Amino acid sequence: MPNFRHRLSAAQRRIYDRSNAVSSIQLRVSPRLARAVSLLPVALGGDYPTEGQRRSKVSKVTQVICDEICKAKRIGPPRVLVKGARPIHEADEYHGLYVSEGHSHEITLWMYTAKRRQVVAPRTLLRTLLHEVAHHLDFTVLDLEESFHTDGFFKRESSLVHQLERAAAKAGRAAVAGPGRLPQRLALRSSGADNPS
Ligand SMILES: [Zn+2]
Repeated sequence: MPNFRHRLSAAQRRIYDRSNAVSSIQLRVSPRLARAVSLLPVALGGDYPTEGQRRSKVSKVTQVICDEICKAKRIGPPRVLVKGARPIHEADEYHGLYVSEGHSHEITLWMYTAKRRQVVAPRTLLRTLLHEVAHHLDFTVLDLEESFHTDGFFKRESSLVHQLERAAAKAGRAAVAGPGRLPQRLALRSSGADNPS
């Protein structure tokens, strides 16, 4: 990622530097959140009679992940929309998009690769979701007026990924140990552009 700070106005540089100074997001990972993360590969890779059912399942799981993170940070969650093949814009393949207008916040994720139309890897989809959630946290938790792709931003994204993956691995082991707590039995309730740069 080329450093673009020099192209910013003085006001934007102050925002950039504040963003760059924060390298992690501490999260209390609820059991529901850990189970939803451990369910994401199941939701993405399952056998479904129709692709619409895959999309609906992935929508529910990603919305739960987003809702639980926002609940832990005491902020309103964006709505998560899951769409089909990634769009290509000026040679870049979009993975996700975060749009915030007034009180409406929306994350869009694409479930299939642009060219070969393959289902994206669960870890990639999780990282994309957390990238977009990190944009939301920039505005709502860090109170930044703009959300830049600073080194600090990518470190915050990674800190979310690592905390969730650790918790999901633990939840997965607990599920194997106790048949009554299989992650597949989680009752999922839905409440409600980025390229990989
Ligand atoms: Zn981004």
